[in-house]
Amino acid sequence: EKRLEHSLVKGIVTFIEEDTEEARLKSDKPIDVIEGALMDGMNIVGDLFGSGKMFLPQVVKSARVMKKSVALLTPYIEDEKTERSNAGKILMATVKGDVHDIGKNIVGVVLSCNNFEIIDLGVMVSSEKILEQAKKHKVDIIGLSGLITPSLDEMIHVAEEMQRQDFNVPLMIGGATTSKVHTAVKLMDKYTNNAIIHVLDASKSVSASSKLLGSDSDEFKSDMKEKYSEIKDHYLKRRSQKEYISLEEARKNCFDYDWNNYNPITPNNLGVKIFEDINIEDVIPYIDWTPFFISWEMKGKFPAIFSDEKYGEEATGLHNDAIEMLQKIVSEKWLTLKSVVGIWEAKKEGDDVFLFENGKHKETFNFLRQQSKKSKKNLCLSDYISENKQDYIGAFVCTAGIEIEKQLSVFDRENDDYNSILLKSLADRLAESLTEYMHEKVRKEIWGYASEEKMKNDDLIKEKYHGIRPAPGYTACPDHTEKQKIFNLLNAEQIGVSLTENMAMYPNATVSGYYFSYPESKYFSVGKIQNDQVENYSKRKEQTIEETKKWLRQNI
Ligand code: SAH
Repeated sequence: EKRLEHSLVKGIVTFIEEDTEEARLKSDKPIDVIEGALMDGMNIVGDLFGSGKMFLPQVVKSARVMKKSVALLTPYIEDEKTERSNAGKILMATVKGDVHDIGKNIVGVVLSCNNFEIIDLGVMVSSEKILEQAKKHKVDIIGLSGLITPSLDEMIHVAEEMQRQDFNVPLMIGGATTSKVHTAVKLMDKYTNNAIIHVLDASKSVSASSKLLGSDSDEFKSDMKEKYSEIKDHYLKRRSQKEYISLEEARKNCFDYDWNNYNPITPNNLGVKIFEDINIEDVIPYIDWTPFFISWEMKGKFPAIFSDEKYGEEATGLHNDAIEMLQKIVSEKWLTLKSVVGIWEAKKEGDDVFLFENGKHKETFNFLRQQSKKSKKNLCLSDYISENKQDYIGAFVCTAGIEIEKQLSVFDRENDDYNSILLKSLADRLAESLTEYMHEKVRKEIWGYASEEKMKNDDLIKEKYHGIRPAPGYTACPDHTEKQKIFNLLNAEQIGVSLTENMAMYPNATVSGYYFSYPESKYFSVGKIQNDQVENYSKRKEQTIEETKKWLRQNI
């Protein structure tokens, strides 16, 4: 990257500023020559990445050189009316109701390194806009991205619309909750005009796109169809073999701690507390670096990753850049950390938890119970709250994203995807570490049920402390709409965060959840629920069965 940076950019600048006219006289299209050289360079980068000899940070940095150079060249290219050839046009969008875009941006950068033209529509993009833009730009592939489970439904909607409007281009699916199984089971039959495939990460996106548009594309598409049909059959067969019990039986088999020998600890503080001047330097030591490297597609545990044979050097370089940026985040106040936490009196009421303020009922959290037939207990989060003794529950929202746009727009102007993605990935890390930091504060001071606790960061990452902080939308409490209650109780708008129509938290780099203090509480997965629970839950939530089914689609 440094070599490219120095010789290439400097050379181009000199060339354009001083020698263009002269050069034009000598050569037919000197700009073409430079551009060709850049393209050749990027193709090498793309190949090295594809063959696992180069890693993502380096690729994104090289792409930055390319992008900056192209920005310099563009006026001249237009001057000479040179048409750039490319490997295909790909539209990318994070679907309506979802705001996550690190993965999508990485895929965009990597594809553009491989000569694809990317039309990135950004986040929260409606199906109408996606399809209208796809037609307008005559794209060769549509790529959809999403982080939260409701986006899986939105993707189904886009696929159905593509079928209805007679689209005939491949559809690529990516993002945290997407999977081959989801694509095969829920999407494949909705759009049959062309291929629909799931791509796991940026490196896979290149080979998939090339094959989808290559000369053997028909064969590739039919191979894919076959493979996905197998995945679907396998999934349905396995599902039908699983046994489930009734909600009533599941409730009888609930987790039943000996409450007689345990007294919930009275919190030092009840009600809502807001924290707006959190010192970033206090939070940095709580960063869990392993997921940071995963977001850059380097899987390996921190700090062992630094001596990894494959990634070691690259991981070290990335980490150095991250530390340098963290210093700027602090000194130039690029980000502000805010959080709001609350603790209330609580009582278990079946699978619900009632919240009280000064003895008056304030809110009800509705939870779901495991229904699979098993020898162990059929868990529900309400099991961790007492039915008879005075007990408590907490909730929180932590964000590191509210002021990020300002610096991102600077990077945007500079065509600097590398620093833009780095900042976003660090904001995510800071939101998670702020969550860890606040959780400790709650355990030790605000609630104070573990005032003597002494944990190293590694112990915190391994969740060795007492209590949990499950997040709505994750598997112990998969109903994203419960976030509304947390946001209302805490008046989360006061720290600048809100929910989209599909219950994504805006801005990015925001975390929310409940606090349970019960020492043996742990995370689990609710899994598939049966009709009796769907009906019962609809009643408890005071919503129609259709509404319940819509939000719990992944569990039905
Ligand atoms: N150290 C990690 C922490 C985030 S992942 C990081 O920095 O990225 C772990 C978090 O995910 C938990 O604290 C909890 O909030 C959530 N979580 C994990 N498993 C869950 C489950 N089964 N149900 C609900 N939330 C869960």
